[in-house]
Amino acid sequence: MTEATFMVLRANLKSLLLSSMAGELERHLRQARESGIGYDEFLLELTTLELQSRAENRLNRRVREAKFPLLKTMETFDLSAAPELDIRLLREFLGCGYIRERKNVIFLGHSGTGKTHLATALGTEACRNNYRTRFTSCYGLVNELIESREERSLQRLIQKYARYDLLILDELGYIPFSKEGAELLFQVLAERHEKGSVIITTNLGFADWTQIFGDPTMTAALLDRLTHRAHIINCSWESYRLKQSLKERRQQHQ
Ligand code: ADP
Ligand code: MG
Repeated sequence: MTEATFMVLRANLKSLLLSSMAGELERHLRQARESGIGYDEFLLELTTLELQSRAENRLNRRVREAKFPLLKTMETFDLSAAPELDIRLLREFLGCGYIRERKNVIFLGHSGTGKTHLATALGTEACRNNYRTRFTSCYGLVNELIESREERSLQRLIQKYARYDLLILDELGYIPFSKEGAELLFQVLAERHEKGSVIITTNLGFADWTQIFGDPTMTAALLDRLTHRAHIINCSWESYRLKQSLKERRQQHQ
């Protein structure tokens, strides 16, 4: 291949927005010449590379947009520490079936049982499958909503939260909301109802949700919407955090 042909070919690939193919063209041409692979294999290698780099970029973009506080995946989740967790159901979640069906998932249990870890891991899988995902604490979302009402951009914000395929609301129940905050959160969830999935992590049993939302009628309406199409996962096992620190203390005393 002459230098001129190479330049035109690379420019063509760039115009077609095949940037990884363009970037790797020179190296792959050289390798192909050296190893003597055919046109078909050469093209297969380059196109596979383009697809891989696109998937990687997409995942990075989705993960950035999701704003996970920590990167936690299923690979680092010790299943033996959560013996009551339904593995079959978890596998289904990892396949994102619940997002396609616009169902919700509620992780309910004590602090330290891995609810945030599981929610983040499911969120990461959603990103991997190219679903628009957003992670936020309940408290953070309520504050954002209150601020946006003051700035008269509430409707825009509610619409923004309605557009995610998956919204993860972490830590419902740790901090009670004002009446206004509860109403605004209700609006976000009502707007998303049956349009997109929500994952909630909470330490509160449903009977105690009125404590957080104040108004019993609104709480009932919210629970009705959230649990109508939801998987409720009872994280009834021991706190992983507690177990780890007990283990470390035992090791220190040995
Ligand atoms: P929760 O949200 O239920 O309070 P977290 O998800 O924050 O609990 O878990 C507390 C810490 O313990 C985190 O660092 C988390 O990664 C870790 N953790 C919890 N459960 C497991 C588990 N089964 N395997 C590995 N790490 C876990
Ligand atoms: Mg948590």
